[in-house]
Amino acid sequence: MSTESHLRLIWLYPDLLSTYGDRGNLLILARRADLRGLPVECAEVRADHPVPSDGDVYLIGGGEDGPQALAAQRLISDGGLHRAIDRGATVFSVCAGYQLMGHSFFAKGTQCAGLGLLDITSDRGETRAVGELTGECDPMLGLPTLTGFENHGGRTHLGQGVRPVARVASGIGNDGTSEGAWHGKILGTYSHGPALARNPALADLLLRWATGLTLEPIDDRWPTRLREERLSAVR
Ligand code: GLN
Repeated sequence: MSTESHLRLIWLYPDLLSTYGDRGNLLILARRADLRGLPVECAEVRADHPVPSDGDVYLIGGGEDGPQALAAQRLISDGGLHRAIDRGATVFSVCAGYQLMGHSFFAKGTQCAGLGLLDITSDRGETRAVGELTGECDPMLGLPTLTGFENHGGRTHLGQGVRPVARVASGIGNDGTSEGAWHGKILGTYSHGPALARNPALADLLLRWATGLTLEPIDDRWPTRLREERLSAVR
């Protein structure tokens, strides 16, 4: 962790990329850290502000094509996120935020440069992927079934430098077969929900990546009920 053992959570560009309750991911991470007695500092960094490079976890959410293209341009010229990752920061990216972690993506019919932080490229799908998304997670992540809601036009192709987060059980995810991608401490997913409310074990994985700590179990009755309700909707 960074300053004086505070866990620094940084939500990037809420003014551009926050279409599906993405603040919820920040709240869930902060709450789950707090319940383990970890002091937390949260920062919301708007697109006209420099990206601090001293964060422990960076969150970036979903959005429409125009804001997504603008966010990618600003993050590339700012360089703060790249510096943070060089320091070993954890990144959780969702949908538009996930696509822009890759080499390139399409927005408004134009190919745009991504940040090149994940070995993925995204192009246009023939149809929009909208609806419940579930998948069986990569055993290396040690997570239960992923559950989320997806809404994207792009399709994502994974290079050799990443592993998929999950194998799709229902929905489309990257391409109808795999869902999300991860490498090191950078993870991206098409799962909205917000994802960390529906997937508390994923929230804890991000906290473990960021702190290196073993985390005590907490009372997950409510998230478990939410998961069961959403998973039963696709069975
Ligand atoms: N604009 C991207 C797409 O449609 C991402 C959409 C989103 O974040 N919901 O593929």
